[in-house]
Amino acid sequence: MSFEVINKVLTPEEVRQLIPVPEHLKVIKMKRDEEIRKVLSGEDSRFILIIGPCSAHDPDAVLTYIERLAKVQEQVKDKLILVPRVYTNKPRTTGEGYKGLMHQPNPLETPNVTEGIKIMRKMQLKVLESTHLTAADEMLYPSNLGYVSDLLSYIAVGARSVENQKHRLTASGIDVAVGLKNPTSGDIGVMLNSVKAAQISHEIIHEGHEVKTSGNPFAHAILRGAVNQYGRNIPNYHYEDLRYVSKKYEERGLQNPSVIVDCNHANSMKQYREQPRIAHEVLRNMNYSESIRKLIKGLMIESYLVEGTQPVTGSVFGQSITDGCLGWDASEKLIYEIASQV
Ligand code: PEP
Ligand code: MN
Repeated sequence: MSFEVINKVLTPEEVRQLIPVPEHLKVIKMKRDEEIRKVLSGEDSRFILIIGPCSAHDPDAVLTYIERLAKVQEQVKDKLILVPRVYTNKPRTTGEGYKGLMHQPNPLETPNVTEGIKIMRKMQLKVLESTHLTAADEMLYPSNLGYVSDLLSYIAVGARSVENQKHRLTASGIDVAVGLKNPTSGDIGVMLNSVKAAQISHEIIHEGHEVKTSGNPFAHAILRGAVNQYGRNIPNYHYEDLRYVSKKYEERGLQNPSVIVDCNHANSMKQYREQPRIAHEVLRNMNYSESIRKLIKGLMIESYLVEGTQPVTGSVFGQSITDGCLGWDASEKLIYEIASQV
């Protein structure tokens, strides 16, 4: 074995004690968690928008973005629940490149997980404290879930992780909404297998204990498009795709059938400017088909202060260093358009 020790890291429990969540903020979070669960169960007819940068590499820019979002949330609160993306861990296709704020609090410096864990938790807490919005993040590493799980209202399992046993079984013990993406191959069966696995109870190792999970009835699917064997993007947000997923969901008898459509990634063929068009198409299909209306509970949009993307060495405040994002003005316009149509 060759794992050279760099540092001893604090356990999730130790970090939670070091950076605690004040009681009044816990109450706000619990209320938001419940509102989102009610959308997924169909008890609340509002629509969820999981919206924000691909990666949260700069806490100041993230906070500025979410402060703007919070103002819009107030205007659309009867129609939409806005869940900011505060993504602190990034999966990389080849394993190379920026791994997210938890590994690299400074994208230009070598990884520092010991510091990154604390900076990540402080950022999630600051977002909640300043905006009263609770965020979404990706559970890229199930063993790190406990560093932030008491601050998140939505947890995604990414396209590269969704077939992994540890991710599925850990998702089954989470009590907020968990969105499981279709794998990059686009296999809908694999995605629904994951939803099933996350919805039932399991016995696993978690934070140093043997535990029994509750099963998460709010585990659901996210369609993000696929990539075929020739590297071509294959979107899966069109009418026929949604009808197919609706039928398959029904056949499986899963709890709280729900789908979030990710408007970027392979669905936009990595063309972030296509996101408004895709959102509008999904809304049109929801208004056309009752089964699609019932199934689609929200959209995921990659958006930031400044549109596009920059190299990791770039210094534009509020511009992505990973996937290209819609800029603020286009995003704000899109949120109001969606609110007027749902
Ligand atoms: C993301 O949401 O930024 C992401 C990495 O998604 P996916 O797992 O679909 O590639
Ligand atoms: Mn992305």
